[in-house]
Amino acid sequence: MKIVLEDILNGKQCIALGGHVRPDGDCIGSCMGLYNYLKENHAGLTVDVYLETIPDAYTMIQGTADAKQQVPEDKTYDLFICLDCGDAERLGFSRPLFESAKETLCIDHHISNDSFADTNYIVPDASSTSELVYTLLDREKISKAVAEALYMGIAHDTGVFQYSCTSPETMEIAADLMRRGINGPEIIDKTYYEKTYIQNQILGRALLESMLILDKRCIVSVVRQKEMEFFQAVPADLEGIVSQLRQTKGVEVAMFLHETAPQQFKVSLRSKGNVDVSAVAKYFGGGGHVRAAGVTMKGSSHDVINNITGRLIHQLDPKEAGKEA
Ligand code: 5GP
Ligand code: MN
Repeated sequence: MKIVLEDILNGKQCIALGGHVRPDGDCIGSCMGLYNYLKENHAGLTVDVYLETIPDAYTMIQGTADAKQQVPEDKTYDLFICLDCGDAERLGFSRPLFESAKETLCIDHHISNDSFADTNYIVPDASSTSELVYTLLDREKISKAVAEALYMGIAHDTGVFQYSCTSPETMEIAADLMRRGINGPEIIDKTYYEKTYIQNQILGRALLESMLILDKRCIVSVVRQKEMEFFQAVPADLEGIVSQLRQTKGVEVAMFLHETAPQQFKVSLRSKGNVDVSAVAKYFGGGGHVRAAGVTMKGSSHDVINNITGRLIHQLDPKEAGKEA
């Protein structure tokens, strides 16, 4: 259901924006696009934005320095806007502010989203939350700074306008944003393609150690805490590894495991074809999109890989899954 942003803002004085844990390009782009727009066009409104530590590559986007990493005590917002989050848990540290806010709005494009806010603007077919934010704004009032943030978010969630979620409307929106004087190539290069030496090293390690399973239809790689320590890498340095794994010729699904605690793994899943990885992630308590999803699971890496492949077989080879049951 399309919403009217100005109607929702009507009568509000103090609002908060929040995105998901380990914020990515679309999360940061949608939050900063909306944050800058509200700051520029709603002088009387107090707007705070809550995001976990933003990776350095994104600091070229205006407003990222204002993001708060801690929630204040005893603060009740008139409105909390949750962006790019499939469920309330994904808000992480800012969730208490969402729970205590007088009113809540969720803007999202995850198919797994079950409309958990008071008002929900959820369009699973949209390329990105940044694209959805664009559709809510008055086009006359979109500044260069707002355009930079939204363009960045759209570019990230479309794999630089390549994934199947890139619709003609997405390209029209990107074109409109480009006309506002932004430096598109620089934004994409600095926030999407450029890697630090450490990021490239850990990517290389993940590719070297990868394995083909399920009759070479699935590729898997694991990065453990001890390797993270060896390379002095932080979780944000792992972004992009699963996409690179997915590029492997012949595979239909890529699975990347990152050990976040002993016997605990953050699993990233990517699909090239017909496999719905969101359904697999959701089965284990996670979520996402048909072709990009994630979940955190406990156990050894073997347990996690076995459990996930058990569900993947249901889609890749329903007859085999039937025999197993
Ligand atoms: P990534 O693999 O890049 O972390 O996430 C891929 C997609 O799945 C993103 O859209 C992300 O929001 C979603 N996702 C990743 N992990 C989780 C999770 O633990 N729970 C839910 N609900 N969604 C997730
Ligand atoms: Mn997104």
